[in-house]
Amino acid sequence: MIPGMRPIVIAANWKMHTMPSEAATLAATIAGRTMDSDVVRIICPPFVALGPVHDALAGTGVAVGAQNCHHEVVGAYTGEVSAAMLVGLAEWVIVGHSERRRDACETDALIAAKLQRALEAGLRPILCVGEQFAEREARIHGSIVEGQLRGALAPHVVDGGEGRIFERLVVAYEPVWAIGTGRNASGRDAAEMAGIVRRTLADLGAPAAGEDVPLLYGGSTTAANIAEFLSEPGIDGALVGGASLKPDEMAGIVGRAGIVARARRAAAS
Ligand code: PEP
Repeated sequence: MIPGMRPIVIAANWKMHTMPSEAATLAATIAGRTMDSDVVRIICPPFVALGPVHDALAGTGVAVGAQNCHHEVVGAYTGEVSAAMLVGLAEWVIVGHSERRRDACETDALIAAKLQRALEAGLRPILCVGEQFAEREARIHGSIVEGQLRGALAPHVVDGGEGRIFERLVVAYEPVWAIGTGRNASGRDAAEMAGIVRRTLADLGAPAAGEDVPLLYGGSTTAANIAEFLSEPGIDGALVGGASLKPDEMAGIVGRAGIVARARRAAAS
């Protein structure tokens, strides 16, 4: 893929916010404020709001994503939701978010299994990776993120599934210290990590993957700082948490993303 021709993606992670009764209205409002077909727009509400949000977004061009799926196909897993159960409600699924690595002790091996389940169900995974602040201070952030990518993706390459996963994958680089803290990384930090992610993807076996896989930044992005990230050629959008619940913020973020998408396309043609 020609650099600059990767899609620009803005994904909203609503986390454990919004009641089912209000989620549909919020989703419709955001869809109405972010009408830009040059930007892949995704809203990931809580599981119980997937149905209402799916219905509210029908015909808007905004896709629905889930925030997680289980690593097994089916079974005695009380309270869990399988990838197959999401079919018809969501097209995307976030996998390996740092809050789940932290709170549900998700390992890279488990995340690899979730990726497999997502692919089997025909979902597109957004794989989250990112370092802790102490790891950045110790200057091991690059190797931490490389290890997370290898841990989650190498099993797919060994199984010969490399073409399939890299065609459907989006990676979100989310430094843990920047998530929900109001303290975003710099565009330069994010670009440095984008380089490491792209080299690791290429090294994992699919030569074009490093070029073709869309790479998002996540961590306290807002309408005010999104331009700093999108001005980096290796970054193709954002996974947005707190700001994604605010229509004004989403309008600003997607507005900037649309400008960048058109500029990159013009530069590449
Ligand atoms: C996230 O939840 O993935 C995230 C990036 O959150 P926030 O934008 O609030 O930091």
